[in-house]
Amino acid sequence: MHSLRIVLCRPSHPGNIGAAARAMKTMGLSDLRLVTPEKFPAPEAQWMATHAQDVLQGAKIHAGLGEAIADCVAAFALSARPREWSTQVLDARAAAARAAALDGPVAFVFGNEQAGLTNEEMLACQYLVHIPSDPGFSSLNLAQAVQVVAYELRMTSNPEVERFRKEKAATVRDLEGLYAHLEQAAIESEFFDPASGSKLRTRLRRLFSRVPDLEREEVNILRGLLNALQARRRK
Ligand code: SAH
Repeated sequence: MHSLRIVLCRPSHPGNIGAAARAMKTMGLSDLRLVTPEKFPAPEAQWMATHAQDVLQGAKIHAGLGEAIADCVAAFALSARPREWSTQVLDARAAAARAAALDGPVAFVFGNEQAGLTNEEMLACQYLVHIPSDPGFSSLNLAQAVQVVAYELRMTSNPEVERFRKEKAATVRDLEGLYAHLEQAAIESEFFDPASGSKLRTRLRRLFSRVPDLEREEVNILRGLLNALQARRRK
């Protein structure tokens, strides 16, 4: 995965910087940039970062947004009031998917707690992003907005979930083995007569096709059970 950067423009509360660092670290992000923070470093930032001190300490400070995103292939501007700017707005999920498809460093840019992003900052970015929220009160706390985006970025390429699936998912061969075994046991027990025209074969396939993430281990349990029943019957 290429590098994902979080840029906070003119944050006024150092506590929010610390909380943003924490939000990033929980989702595996570490590249934090601060554009002219009002007060930083600050003890409030440390308190809110808790175990994300490394992210906080690694934060680079920039004099302007242009400098913070110059080497990025794309910058995504986060706005609580996107309608004022443009009609082309991505929601956070779509933005994360777009970012994941890009090759090279990508920045997500957040505005000041009171004023949001300026016109100029917005124009420096290529995409406008909104976190869908209640139109009557759509403005999330800065660090919480960072959390939502960091979460969506993680979900586009969750390495843990994928590794888990690759190791354990039942293959077509496993499934075919299970179907053959079920059929054999059904015939052997006289539950099923292949000459009867019964739809058992198709029905069993339909049943298992509705389990989209069957694990090899689960197939093995079913086959183990069939083996045990067959062994008992043959005795
Ligand atoms: N009062 C400001 C919002 C400040 S919240 C305003 O109305 O613009 C601080 C920053 O968090 C915003 O600049 C934006 O980057 C982000 N943010 C908060 N709520 C958001 C939302 N619903 N969608 C996208 N970004 C949001």
